[in-house]
Amino acid sequence: MRFNTKTIHAGVSPDPSTGAIMTPIFQTSTYVQSAPGDHKGYEYGRTQNPTRDALQKNLAALENGKYGLCYSTGLGAIDAVVKTLKPGDEVIATNDLYGGTYRLFVKVFEKYGIKFRFVNMSHAEDVVKFITPATKLLWIETPTNPMMNIIDIEALSKIGKTHHITVCVDNTFASPYLQNPLDLGADLVMHSLTKYISGHSDVVMGALITNNEALYEDLKFIQNATGATPGPQDCFLVLRGIKTLHVRMQRHCENGAAVARFLEAHPSIDKVYWCGLETHPNHDIAKKQMRDFGGMISFTFKKDTMETALTFLKRIELFALAESLGGVESLVGHPASMTHASIPREERLKNGLTDALIRLSVGIEDINDLLEDLTQALKGL
Ligand SMILES: *Cc1c(COP(=O)(O)O)cnc(C)c1O
Repeated sequence: MRFNTKTIHAGVSPDPSTGAIMTPIFQTSTYVQSAPGDHKGYEYGRTQNPTRDALQKNLAALENGKYGLCYSTGLGAIDAVVKTLKPGDEVIATNDLYGGTYRLFVKVFEKYGIKFRFVNMSHAEDVVKFITPATKLLWIETPTNPMMNIIDIEALSKIGKTHHITVCVDNTFASPYLQNPLDLGADLVMHSLTKYISGHSDVVMGALITNNEALYEDLKFIQNATGATPGPQDCFLVLRGIKTLHVRMQRHCENGAAVARFLEAHPSIDKVYWCGLETHPNHDIAKKQMRDFGGMISFTFKKDTMETALTFLKRIELFALAESLGGVESLVGHPASMTHASIPREERLKNGLTDALIRLSVGIEDINDLLEDLTQALKGL
């Protein structure tokens, strides 16, 4: 089955008792046994649920993996990965990282004796010098947020193999439509399903996908033992969203390209960060590992002041000012005052995250309406 068919058919089949074409929402906490231990593979709702099973199978198929596991949030999935480690173990992570991942690593897991190093991974070979015998996990995010840096998954997976280190890729920004890290040699893929995969800004959930049976057994044990499992209603919503993932992503990419080209040519704009531009420093790697370039774009103004950003945000109408990304509707964010406010100004300036940097999650509205809205909001800035 090809990707555009898998979104609709993988892991799901008509309900045997009624023929219902849509996977039922099995809203139950427990399952009746005919004698102790004599059951149909389902005992208790935290441990197993048929709606969740269908979603897990579907996600595994989308990432070309054998095993999928869902968690109540993206962070719940990341938490499970770190719980496979023990005190003294070391993790090397992308430095330009989702803020919540950074917070979980540093504020929660450092207390338990796990060490984290945050490293610029733009050149894969630079990572080798940070590896020690205690390094157990390489944590990669690509494209990164909000600077849209691209990391070479294949090169880092090779480094991971050589040093017997598990390689996990947070594939949230790309989605499996654009990039499949397991095919590039990674051991594990993580998703915040909250974003492109569910795609309608109506559910929060996370997932892990792998081909490694031992890793899967470990993560499944943690899923049940720590209990960060999603409810069946939410699993249904994600399954429903996935059926249009390929159609939505195609439009996100087309609209993203049009918005990036428009901004690049606009006299008020300084830099545009989008990995589809030939001028992007790792455009070649993006072209090699991604099928297209997505709808996430950041840009800076020639007049780089908070005031410029605030005027733009006040004028823009169709792009809603909100955290999150990947939904059908266009969103706009101001990282310096929102998602990245906790990073000291000097630090963020070093990475190009200036005072007026704006991040767009380009939705699937009519492109002419989006460009008209940007035109009026940028006038004279
Ligand atoms: C949103 C997000 C997460 C966290 O996922 P939640 O579902 O919000 O817990 C992790 N990584 C990336 C890249 C994200 O965008």
